[in-house]
Amino acid sequence: MDSDVAVRLARVRARVAAAALSVGRDPAEVDVLLAVKTQPAGVVRTAIEAGARLLGHNRAQELVATAPLLVDLTAAHGVETHFIGHLQSNKVGHVLPWVTCVQTVDSPALAARLDRVAARSERVLEVFVQVNTSAEATKNGVPPQEALALTYAVGAAEHLRLRGLMTIGANSPDAAVVRDSFEHLAMLRSAVLTSGAPGTAGARELSMGMSGDLEHAVAAGSTMVRVGSAVFGPRPQR
Ligand SMILES: *Cc1c(COP(=O)(O)O)cnc(C)c1O
Repeated sequence: MDSDVAVRLARVRARVAAAALSVGRDPAEVDVLLAVKTQPAGVVRTAIEAGARLLGHNRAQELVATAPLLVDLTAAHGVETHFIGHLQSNKVGHVLPWVTCVQTVDSPALAARLDRVAARSERVLEVFVQVNTSAEATKNGVPPQEALALTYAVGAAEHLRLRGLMTIGANSPDAAVVRDSFEHLAMLRSAVLTSGAPGTAGARELSMGMSGDLEHAVAAGSTMVRVGSAVFGPRPQR
């Protein structure tokens, strides 16, 4: 089981590298974040020991339950923990102590709340703006036509630092549709970077691509893939 995680993580890194090289990109431009939802702390520990340096949590409750068990290990290895699930405003205060980055900012109200809570602890929180590039009703994220305005609001917030944009690719068997959603996010990033809006000049990152579609995401410019089942195996049905 333990060695499985290490072997699968190595396989994911090899997939990312091959995908990058096939489009003339440097594999070092693409980070791998492990989506650890539903995984017990022991399994996350194994992944860190196998070299994982970026963790993503979806659920506030799970984060708050497992992060304290791993705090020694994450600190020793410089592991970054991100929040990658839908974040309700009333959970912000519980989540922030355990993360350096929230990837799922999808409304001006959430941005304002994160800014206020970060200010209270005199810190700067890294964030991504999540965009619903596929327009699927089941997905969170700001609609693409509102994405630029939200990046400007985040850029103007004193205690937030905009790292880039995040999306979940279209859920489609048609590769062209999946690629469209990733290319759309890359176009939006160009618009942000050329906007000249305060606080947006560093927003170079694209968090996109998961176990099933990371090749398409890397081809479209992903700088961070978020991988769960390819490393941990299929999730139990909830
Ligand atoms: C679970 C999850 C992932 C990883 O998905 P897999 O298909 O298991 O690789 C990536 N991003 C988010 C937001 C997730 O919730």
